[in-house]
Amino acid sequence: MRLLQRHLCTIAMSLVAVCSAHAATLVEPTLHIKPAASGVGRVALTLDACDGQTDTRILSALVENKIPATIFVTGIWLKRNAAAVEIMRAHPDLFELENHGGRHIPAVDSPQKIYGIKSAGSPDAVLAEVESGAAALARTGEPAPKWFRGATAEYSPSAIAMIRKLGFKIAGFSINGDGGSLLGAKETARRIAAAKDGDVIISHINQPTHAAGEGVVQGLLALKAKGVTFVRLDDADGTGNHGTTD
Ligand SMILES: [Zn+2]
Repeated sequence: MRLLQRHLCTIAMSLVAVCSAHAATLVEPTLHIKPAASGVGRVALTLDACDGQTDTRILSALVENKIPATIFVTGIWLKRNAAAVEIMRAHPDLFELENHGGRHIPAVDSPQKIYGIKSAGSPDAVLAEVESGAAALARTGEPAPKWFRGATAEYSPSAIAMIRKLGFKIAGFSINGDGGSLLGAKETARRIAAAKDGDVIISHINQPTHAAGEGVVQGLLALKAKGVTFVRLDDADGTGNHGTTD
């Protein structure tokens, strides 16, 4: 019996050791914008362009319905989607392009995997990801980005402090619209249509073959029909937790 106890204790101790070796707990910051003083309310739509292609269902719907959006682009997406970038640049009143990193690597400065994606793994690699994303945007002639959102939208607290020192605000969100673009059209539409005054929606504009994209359009049109005002992050007073905006 005593032997068993000692054995269990050893297991417990090694579990503690494993947990503490797993570096800092990651955070997924939230972001809200200042609610409207009157009317139905205002909502910020943010769309990530991680890699891959462009969901023209969403891009066309934004242009046709004059819905402003903040697009978080990576260096790799910018390289492969020149036509979409042209459309966005032709509508500066609608599209604000911000920094989603150079190579879509999570801004986590210890080695680990997040949703199966390898983290940057060191402070230097986090800096390289943030700075190369900003440089890629500068090369397209876009204004210098002011907001950063890392791949997977999860961060180590020390990486958040570093990114803030570089002068970027970090864009969390309050409504996960498309579940990483993996949700069905109906559920995506339901989540987006449920946005309330002050919410910041996150979805994806880089997965043209996913059903979620259709739901993004439906949800946005439902909000527009309700009379919701869409604002971009630069035009709104955004407040995030975990030291991401203050
Ligand atoms: Zn992404």
